[in-house]
Amino acid sequence: MTGDGTRCVHGGHGEGVLGEALHPGPVLSSTFHLGGPGDPTPTDFYGRADNPTWRVLEAAIGDLDGGECVVFASGMAAIAAVLRLAGRDGALVLPSDGYYLARSLAHDELGPFGVEVREVPTAGEWPAKVLDGAALVLLETPSNPGLDVADIAAAAAAAHAAGALLAVDNTTATPLGQQPLALGADFAVASDTKALSGHGDVVLGHVSVRDGALAARLREARSRGGAVPGPMEAWLAHRGLGTLDLRLARQAANAAAVAAAVAEHPLVSDVRWPGLPHDPAHAVAARQMRRWNGVLRFTLPDEHAVGQFLAASRLVTSATSFGGLRSSADRRQRWGDDVAPGLVRFSAGCEDEHDLVADVRAALAAITG
Ligand SMILES: *Cc1c(COP(=O)(O)O)cnc(C)c1O
Repeated sequence: MTGDGTRCVHGGHGEGVLGEALHPGPVLSSTFHLGGPGDPTPTDFYGRADNPTWRVLEAAIGDLDGGECVVFASGMAAIAAVLRLAGRDGALVLPSDGYYLARSLAHDELGPFGVEVREVPTAGEWPAKVLDGAALVLLETPSNPGLDVADIAAAAAAAHAAGALLAVDNTTATPLGQQPLALGADFAVASDTKALSGHGDVVLGHVSVRDGALAARLREARSRGGAVPGPMEAWLAHRGLGTLDLRLARQAANAAAVAAAVAEHPLVSDVRWPGLPHDPAHAVAARQMRRWNGVLRFTLPDEHAVGQFLAASRLVTSATSFGGLRSSADRRQRWGDDVAPGLVRFSAGCEDEHDLVADVRAALAAITG
């Protein structure tokens, strides 16, 4: 089983057992039978410690990530677990242009405990001494919302030379798009709320690592911190994962078409999608990504223009988050990202390409300036 589609469809599904369900439901239980005196404590004894439905999903994602997966209640819970576990014995290096809550978590919750937080741009040119005394480097590539790209292998080598660990937020790429562990990262973290689950009905995250002892520490941290996913969410995520290969292929093709279409419009500037041959990040992205992602960004003149674009579109929903079946767009400055007022993060969905491109063209034409 080597192909992406086969691995997505079959991941986590074990050998069939006579008469048992092909698609077993979620195990909705907080407590489990402990047996009698002398029986060993089973793997499943309490719902905060472990759950059979989590393990099925963890097997599937871990196979795709090339490591051991630990699922969490959300992407932020996964990031928080990594920062708490590995980010306290020295400085913490984070992207200045990545997901905003990772930064505020570091500054507002770890900072007061004496952790020094340093910010670096995803695209590189890091200050010479930024890794001195660092315990953990977190990269996000492609970054959200900037769609910039960091060189994972180079960052892993630099972090390790400085005695730091490297975590990569792989949300935008998904495990099919990029394999941070194979490129040298110590942690692959992701919000599976986005493309991995893919249907906009689940909040979930995970961390994958190559080292079994580190995975065990993450599981203990999950149990202590209590940021555990519900079995229903894990089950839905596993169901969604089955079609990730198909969805990502359509989303990436649609992203390419939308990027090309918007780039032709005179009111649009700064189109970024790593798959565009002339994108500043294309060369490094092409080296380290296996497949392109379905999210792009572009800039309209101002907030008003974005409002007109969204009002005129019939297929593009105004919504935050990304990676779902339906195309959506989000004006990122409204959430406090340090970007132009007209910057739009566009999540290409699974519509037919010609319908989506026609709709986007018509919506751009409705902007009166
Ligand atoms: C959404 C997102 C997160 C946070 O994930 P949640 O599942 O919403 O907690 C972290 N990193 C990136 C890049 C994201 O897009």
